[in-house]
Amino acid sequence: MAKPSLDAGAVYDACTAVARPSDVRKALRGLKETVVKAADAYEIAAAQQAQHTLNHLKHQPDGELAVKAAKASKASKSGINDELKKTYVNRMVGGAGRTFYDKLRGSCCGLCALCGHGAADTLDHQLPKDSYPLLSVVPVNLVPACSRCNHYKKDKVPTHAGDQTLHPYFDGDVHDHLWLFAQVTGPPEPAVSFRVDPPATMPPVLSARAHYHFATLELSGLYNSQIGKELRFLGMSLAQHPLGPAELREHLQETSEIMSAVEGRNSWKAALYRGLVESNWYLEGGWEEPWK
Ligand SMILES: [Zn+2]
Repeated sequence: MAKPSLDAGAVYDACTAVARPSDVRKALRGLKETVVKAADAYEIAAAQQAQHTLNHLKHQPDGELAVKAAKASKASKSGINDELKKTYVNRMVGGAGRTFYDKLRGSCCGLCALCGHGAADTLDHQLPKDSYPLLSVVPVNLVPACSRCNHYKKDKVPTHAGDQTLHPYFDGDVHDHLWLFAQVTGPPEPAVSFRVDPPATMPPVLSARAHYHFATLELSGLYNSQIGKELRFLGMSLAQHPLGPAELREHLQETSEIMSAVEGRNSWKAALYRGLVESNWYLEGGWEEPWK
C-alpha cells in the first residue's frame, strides 16, 4: 500500500498544539525539529529495510537534549519521553490529532494492513514507541492494524533486517513473488496446512520478513479459522452442480486466479484455492465428504 503522504511536522504540530500543562507543551514544541529529523531518518532506513540500524533514536531524547528541554520547560528529564508517548495516546488517539489517526486507520479500506483480514481498529507502531518515543506520532511508522495483530506483534525491537514483520508501506515488493501456499489433505474432511515458502528469486530480507510475519502474527491460526466457511460454501455449491475431477480442477484454477486478483496472490483465499487445485483427493470427491 502507498505510504501516507501526511507531513510528520504537521501531524506533530496538531498533536502538541494544545498539550497541557504549558511547560509540557513548551518542551514538546521544542522537540519538533528533532521529531522531524527522526522521521526523515526512519523513512530513509525503512526504504533500505534497515530500521534495525536506528539505534541513535532509541529512548531519545536523552542526555544533553533532554536536559536542555527540561531546563527550557521545567519538565523533568524522565518526563520528556513519557510525554512523547502520551502524545500518541492522549493527543493523537484521544486529542487534537484524532483526524490524522482516523485517516491513517482507514487507509487500507478499513482493514488491517498486517493480516488483510481484521478490521483496523488501531494503529500499530512499526517501531514501538516505548523504545522510540520520537516516532510516537510519525505517520510512516503508524500502520492500520487489528487488535489481534497488534497484540501478537508486541513491542519487540528488531535486531537485524529480517527480524521484523513486513512493512506495508515499504515492503510492497513482497507481492511481486508467490510465497504463501496451502496443502489440502483428507479424509475424512479437508485439512489445510498453510506455509510460507519463498522462491529462490525473492530477496533474502523479504523472505526472512515473510517468515517472521507469518509466524509472529500467528497467521496460520487466523487462516485456519476462516477456511471452514469457505469450504462449506464450495462443497454446497458443488453438491448443487457436481463437477468431475478435470472440470473441477479447471474451475478451481480459475477461482484461484480471481482470488489472486481480488485478494492478493499471497492471501489465504488464493493460497487455499491453489491448494485445492493440487489435491487429487479433493478433486476426486473429497469435497463431498463433510456433506454426505
Ligand atoms: Zn490483523
